[in-house]
Amino acid sequence: MTLMRAAVVPELGGKVEIREVPVPEPGPGQVLVRMLASGLCHTDIHAANGDWPVKPRPPFTPGHEGVGIVEKVGPGATLHRPGDRVAIAWLGSACGHCRYCLTGWETLCEAQRNSGYAVDGAWAEYAVASDSHVVAVPDAVSSFDAAPLTCAGVTTFKAVKVSGIQPGETAAVYGIGGLGHLAVQYARAFGARVIGVDVEDAKLELARDLGADHVVNARTTDPVEAVGDLGGADVAVVLATSPRVFEQAFSSLRRGGRLVCVGLPADDKMTIPIFDLVLGGKSVIGSIVGTRQDLADVFALHAAGRTKVIAEARRLDDVNTCIEEVLAGNVPARLVFTF
Ligand code: NAD
Ligand code: ZN
Ligand code: ZN
Repeated sequence: MTLMRAAVVPELGGKVEIREVPVPEPGPGQVLVRMLASGLCHTDIHAANGDWPVKPRPPFTPGHEGVGIVEKVGPGATLHRPGDRVAIAWLGSACGHCRYCLTGWETLCEAQRNSGYAVDGAWAEYAVASDSHVVAVPDAVSSFDAAPLTCAGVTTFKAVKVSGIQPGETAAVYGIGGLGHLAVQYARAFGARVIGVDVEDAKLELARDLGADHVVNARTTDPVEAVGDLGGADVAVVLATSPRVFEQAFSSLRRGGRLVCVGLPADDKMTIPIFDLVLGGKSVIGSIVGTRQDLADVFALHAAGRTKVIAEARRLDDVNTCIEEVLAGNVPARLVFTF
């Protein structure tokens, strides 16, 4: 039996452990992927803490920004061959025949299995994944860049798409972390004027570097007033992890504005004023990751030079320190484990 190193959550709320475990065997329709790069998404922290109403079952291995090489294919896996470079995303698999799968909304499939949550994920030297749901990484995209694109990229690309943003409209991005630094770039690519909102000056500087037209520090300034002074937002994309930010983002919309909720706070409730929602013709939209095709589009945009990934490399052994760094908010956008 060959062993590998994997990050394992032994119990919800406990520290992540690095363990030596057997390299998994690809079952029917699966591929075995040798990891090259694997991102740390804030979702992995929520997973390890058991923050959400639907909880993962420990012990499990988080990670859904996995990029690596197919080493072996299981019985009946015909789409990928050993040597192919692929990405393992949150959408580990979906049924392929429900009304959502059939209409381009596989991300809403009720039978989906999520990587690093329902099935062991990419914080390990090897992972098995569904042959049908891994996504090919083009040669022009490095594994290091592909990792954050596999969740942070596809999620914010999709969120900006579903916002219906039009050229010349204003998009406010609340939370310039792993997701937010890419959201700023997609909002610009769609032709919006962009306002970046965060509580850390370093993140706001990053937003500026990546093309934000205005930035607001929500720790020192009231973001509702500040965005209002700039004319209000047609779209507000919320990537922060506290309900108050969702409420602020809603209040910063101008009439006809769309609140796109992406962050998934442990504290699950927000309050929206109905009168303002109705008379202002506003919308509240939930957006969850993106499809395999959205991810292929994200890779293609990156290959074409339209996006920049800001990330730092880390060792999987340092996973607990990395989690602390992300929670402290002093990470330059994304951390990526390299192997
Ligand atoms: P992150 O920790 O990298 O980024 C969060 C950012 O919010 C940080 O820059 C932080 O400084 C900022 N922030 C904190 N307080 C703020 C405030 N009051 N106002 C404005 N900004 C504030 O996290 P991430 O990896 O980008 O993930 C963000 C959230 O999105 C998480 O809840 C994660 O679970 C969720 N997520 C959702 C999807 C989806 O498909 N819906 C996909 C991936 C992640
Ligand atoms: Zn389905
Ligand atoms: Zn994620």
